[in-house]
Amino acid sequence: MQTLVIAEHDGDSLRKGSLHALGFAQRIADEGVEPGWLVMGSGVGKVAREAARYAPALVADTPQLDIPTADRYARVIVDVARAGGCQRLLAASSTFAKDILPRACAMLGGAMASDVVGCAERDGQLVFQRPMYAGSVTASVRLLAAPMVITVRGTACPAAEMVVAPRTITAIAVEAASLPADIAVLQRDCRATGRPDVAEARVVVSGGRAVRSSDDFQRLVGGLADRLGGAAGSSRALVDAGITPNELQVGQTGKIVSPELYFALGISGAVQHLAGMRNSKTIVAINSDPNAPIFEVADYGLVGDIYEIVPELIERLDAERHD
Ligand SMILES: Cc1cc2nc3c(=O)[nH]c(=O)nc-3n(C[C@H](O)[C@H](O)[C@H](O)COP(=O)(O)OP(=O)(O)OC[C@H]3O[C@@H](n4cnc5c(N)ncnc54)[C@H](O)[C@@H]3O)c2cc1C
Repeated sequence: MQTLVIAEHDGDSLRKGSLHALGFAQRIADEGVEPGWLVMGSGVGKVAREAARYAPALVADTPQLDIPTADRYARVIVDVARAGGCQRLLAASSTFAKDILPRACAMLGGAMASDVVGCAERDGQLVFQRPMYAGSVTASVRLLAAPMVITVRGTACPAAEMVVAPRTITAIAVEAASLPADIAVLQRDCRATGRPDVAEARVVVSGGRAVRSSDDFQRLVGGLADRLGGAAGSSRALVDAGITPNELQVGQTGKIVSPELYFALGISGAVQHLAGMRNSKTIVAINSDPNAPIFEVADYGLVGDIYEIVPELIERLDAERHD
């Protein structure tokens, strides 16, 4: 396969971002060449079957790949890419890809563009657009070495569509002895919130420094998110204050989100925060400062105290539900 998309999944199903990465791969693929998946993990038969409903899938399924450590996953990617003469490697722009793809690229001697948001053809060559300096400028880059390694933001391209007839699933033999064993994962702690992931949700409600405690965060930000079936996110100010965990951070050094509806509760709108959410379809900001920069990107703005407005909003949503 000349173009390979690394499938990101939770062991049960594909992550939405991977379908956007496949859509992007299909857009830049040479005519008549169908991009394929590389699915890695342990016991990933179900994910492989789902993947094959979009594109052919190569599957590396072994207990040694149970946990996605960068050393092992990069090794498998490199072996598969070399064996197949792969020219383009893609993945969704995510924490998973940030960990693994640069390592694979370096091992392959390729050229990488991360966080790609667009692509055009100039003089017969692909030119990729990617944001720099927290989105202040957009760079156009050409990748001059092979393979090209690209991570793609969800907003760059619509998700790939299902094909009528499922494509092939090909098992790849992974020699356990050939995999690096330098990292031993001792334990994984997951904070189950029961809410969707901030990077995948249709609705994201984020809280900023205005939120004074973890209890207030759960009551106001979590409460509104739950009423709307959305995810709870936060600015870095709350992460730094220990009120929210790192995985909720939206922004340049957090997660990039592009939901249909984004609530910014008591968030000033620093450029590093905007870098992670300004592509949201509709932005609602509540802030006590009428001059807060967040209002420059907001579609709807409410000037006021989140401690008064949000409980009222929750109350009205509850009342509407009962009616
Ligand atoms: C290299 C680098 C990377 C960074 N990456 C990120 C990132 O990924 N994500 C990120 O978010 N930040 C990031 N930051 C930090 C960023 O610069 C800001 O400091 C941060 O976003 C501020 O968070 P905030 O808006 O919650 O807080 P503040 O800027 O302090 O804003 C709080 C807002 O709440 C309002 N307010 C206060 N009380 C109330 C109330 N009761 N009701 C309503 N409104 C109220 C205030 O008017 C103010 O506008 C980064 C910074 C650097 C240098």
